[in-house]
This record gives sequence, structure tokens and C-alpha cells, in this order.
Amino acid sequence: MGFRATVLTLYPEMFPGPLGASLAGEGLRKGLWSLETHQIRDHGIGRHRNVDDNPAGGGAGMVLRCDVLAAAIDAAVPAGDARPRLLMSPRGRRLDQSFVRDLVAGDGAVIVCGRFEGVDERVIEGRGLTEVSIGDYILSGGEMAAMVVLDACVRLIPGVMGKEASGTEESFESGLLEYPHYTRPREWEGRGLPEALLSGDHARIARWRREQAEAITRERRPDLWAAHKG
Ligand code: SAH
Repeated sequence: MGFRATVLTLYPEMFPGPLGASLAGEGLRKGLWSLETHQIRDHGIGRHRNVDDNPAGGGAGMVLRCDVLAAAIDAAVPAGDARPRLLMSPRGRRLDQSFVRDLVAGDGAVIVCGRFEGVDERVIEGRGLTEVSIGDYILSGGEMAAMVVLDACVRLIPGVMGKEASGTEESFESGLLEYPHYTRPREWEGRGLPEALLSGDHARIARWRREQAEAITRERRPDLWAAHKG
């Protein structure tokens, strides 16, 4: 069945959004992956379909109700569906390429998009949600974060990227940042191309790229460099 994404959100109209364009969108139309959205508010309480309430203990903002979110999850995800259930959350495990690879190796993901101050803690436990963050900053909602997760996954699905290799030389894949790229023209505003790239010597080119990747990683991301050196 391929990679199936099920997204729970208060703003289903945001999807597919950018995921409907370019290679991800073509992949969607070709059925290389699928995207289903569910409106959490359909499970809201009462005539006004309320989904949020004041935080227990007081304080600013509103919290997504656990009963509402659980009902939405139960309606959207059949019992026995083994896909990971992610909750977009700044407190979560930081998204990285190895997590993306793990997701793509499976059948897809259920992604819950938070809003307001967040969600009632009890539903995280009660429905086995894994909190995932896309970085150390606060968004207004989980929808764009979910799109980031899905975009990173979808481009690795076989067929989506066409003949561009599924990115084994990409930044992070080898534990290093990528080497610099160049293309035509051969000279631009007085800047030429690195010697090695003009040499036609494949071993030399590979060596140059490796050295560049190492130098850039050492300089820009000492954390990655330390892990790489292990
Ligand atoms: N009060 C929360 C932030 C709520 S932001 C806190 O301080 O941690 C509202 C929603 O946006 C969150 O529930 C989450 O779903 C989403 N969100 C915000 N920042 C995010 C991030 N960095 N990564 C993933 N999701 C995020």
C-alpha cells in the first residue's frame, strides 16, 4: 500500500498545500503515497463543537481536550493500524534524517497537529503518541511541522524523486554536511570553478568533495563533527 499519511488537524484545508506541488504532489497524484486529513472538530463537544478548554490549574491559553482528540484518533485510525502515531510538539524528539528513514521504511504515519497551548497530556499516554519537534522554536500549530515531516519522508519514497538518487550523498546521510555545488557558467563575476572539479579525475573529485564536506562540517556543526569522528 506504500506510505500512508493520516493527519488530524483543526485546519484540514491547509493540506496538501505545498505537498500538492512539485515532486511530492506528482507522487501523490501517481499514488506513490497517500494523504488523508481528518477534522478534529467533527468530534467536538456540543452544538459549538468545542475542542479546547481552559488549562487545569489556571493560566493563559487553551488546551485541546483529551476526549475530543481521542475520539478523533479512534475514528481516523482503525484498531490494529500499526503506523507510528506522532504528535507535533516542541517538546518532542527532534526530527532528523535517521528518524525520517525509519518512518519511510514503515507503512506511513498518523500525525496529530496541536494548536493553542498544546494538548491534554493524558491523550499522549492514552493513545500512545510520540512527540516530534521540528526544531527549537514555537509555531502557531502543528500543521506546518507535519508538512515538514511528510516532505522529508515523501522525497525518499522510490519513484518520487525520479532519477535523482535517493540522496545518499545528501547532508546528514553520511553524518557530514554536503560539499559545495557548482554548475555553469565556468566563470561568473570573476569567480572560477575549483580546480579539482575541472580535472576529470574522478578519484580526485571525490577526494576534494570529501575534504570540503569535512571542513564545512567541522566549522559549522562541531556537534555533527564530533559524532562523525565518534
Ligand atoms: N505551549 C507549547 C507550544 C504550543 S504551540 C510549548 O510551550 O511547548 C501550538 C502547537 O504547535 C503545538 O501543540 C504543536 O503541535 C505545534 N508546534 C509548535 N512548535 C512546534 C515545533 N517546534 N515542532 C513541532 N510542532 C510544533
